[in-house]
Parts: sequence; C-alpha cells; structure tokens
Amino acid sequence: MTQPPVCDYEGSDYQSSFWDRGGREYEDRVEAIALKRLLPKGGRLLLELGAGAGRNTPRYAGFERIVLVDYSRSQLRQAQARLGASDRYVLVAADIYRLPFIPGVFDAATMIRTLHHMSDPPRALTQVRGALASGATFILEFANKLNMKAILRYWLGRQTWNPFTLQPVEFAELNFDFHPVAVRHWLQTLGFNVAKVLAVSHFRTGLLKRTVPTFMLVALDSLFQWTGALWQLTPSVFIKAALPGELPAIHVDDIRSIFRCPDCGHTPLLDKAQQMECPNCGRSWQKSDGIYDFREPAGAP
Ligand SMILES: [Zn+2]
Repeated sequence: MTQPPVCDYEGSDYQSSFWDRGGREYEDRVEAIALKRLLPKGGRLLLELGAGAGRNTPRYAGFERIVLVDYSRSQLRQAQARLGASDRYVLVAADIYRLPFIPGVFDAATMIRTLHHMSDPPRALTQVRGALASGATFILEFANKLNMKAILRYWLGRQTWNPFTLQPVEFAELNFDFHPVAVRHWLQTLGFNVAKVLAVSHFRTGLLKRTVPTFMLVALDSLFQWTGALWQLTPSVFIKAALPGELPAIHVDDIRSIFRCPDCGHTPLLDKAQQMECPNCGRSWQKSDGIYDFREPAGAP
C-alpha cells in the first residue's frame, strides 16, 4: 500500500523561529494550561507523537518514561540537547503511519500540533490506537477549521473554502485544518470515549497580542477553555480521549522490548550494536547517538 506523504521538519529551525523568537508566548502558555487540565496525574510510559524539539516534554513530569517520536532526526537531537541525557527519555525517529511499537504498551499518548500535518488522519490515529493499552488516555490537539476568523472571512467572501463542511482543508501543502465533528467521529470509530474538550487560543490575533498584556490574554483564555464542552470556535482544540477498560499492570524493564518491526510487525527485534535487527524479515534499523531510527531500513536481506 502506498504511504501518505510525511511532513518532515528535518533541518528546520521551527523551535527557535516559531516558538522562541516568533511571539508565541501566549500560544505556548495556553497550551500548557490545557495540557495540565487533561493529563493524568502520572503514569508509566507516555508516547509523545510529533515531539519536535521537546517543547512540551517537561510538562509530562508525572510519567516515569517518555517515548518521543518525530519524523525528523534533527528535531530529536534538539530535544536531546534540551532535555539532557536520561533513561527517562527514549528518542525514536519514525513515520506515524508505520509505528514501530508492540500493541497496547503505552498507558498514555499525546499528539499536539501534529495531526495538522496528516493527510490521512484516520490511518495515523489507528496506529496510535494500536500502541495504547486498554484504559489508556490520549490527548489530541488539532487545528480547527471551524474557527471564528475562518467563519468571518467566509461570510465576508474573503475565503473560498467553507468552514462548516466536515472535510479537512489543506490551506498550505501538508497543513490541514479539521472540523471538530470529524475528529470526534474518527476517535469514536476507533473505540475512544471523548472525555473532555477544551477550546484553546481564543485570542490568537496579532492585534490583541500586541495591545493586551500576555498575562491577561492567558488568564482569559484559561477561563474560556472550558466552553469547549459546549462549542469549539477557536483555532486550536484539545480533546482528552480514553480507551475503555482498566489499565493493565505492564512492566517494561528493557525499553527495547517495546519495539516491533515497522515493516512486518515482528517482535522482539535483536539488538546488534548500531542496529535493531528483525529476525523475521531480515531488515535492520539504525540506532545511533541515542536515537532509534525506524524510518528506512539501514540494511535489508
Ligand atoms: Zn521485519
């Protein structure tokens, strides 16, 4: 089957240009508030999808271990530098459509500002679902096409696409906005229960951010986030979804035991110095500088 295209941040200075110097303090702070409201108090093993340079990773302090997944190795190296060397963090370069994890091994997952780049969200979400244990929590952020600005622009005839339809809109190459009802439907189809919805980033306009002190915008957004239970008209929406059942008591002593071959699904993989080798299909996957790379086989039979 052909793979959907992947949005690759390889070599990107996204962290510094967008977050550190890009006037995104407001966005970062309201996201932190939303995450805090939705995250379980703690857990064993959290899967962070689209971890980038690890901006959110320190916010998962309640978890014993965090597996950071990103398609870009250079983003993961930035995360490494930011977080420091620690067994708590496991860095994995992988394609979300071919995740290299055994079924049901994670008790939580987060995916923030990442679905935004998926041309085939149900397929990506199916992979996430597969890696989660029963009773697991999944926190999903998505870019909302049904936001106030898009609605006004549409009504004023300054935007051709209709924010009210359920189809995703690709406003730039591999940048998608989604309808809240569509996202909810994808999650429910996969067996998730939607537990909480927060509407986030109410005041994401240049004018407000320039004229009103950030702390005030953050305080107001924090209050208004709860309206997400009733309606979602913000550019960013956070969903807390849960799988039914009780969390099993899984113990992961050896972190290498969570991996499976992304091509044939075989587990366990054999640890051969600089590579993880699949004894079933013979492919091997590079392991270097503390990063497991499951994107392309480093060696084939
Ligand atoms: Zn294999």
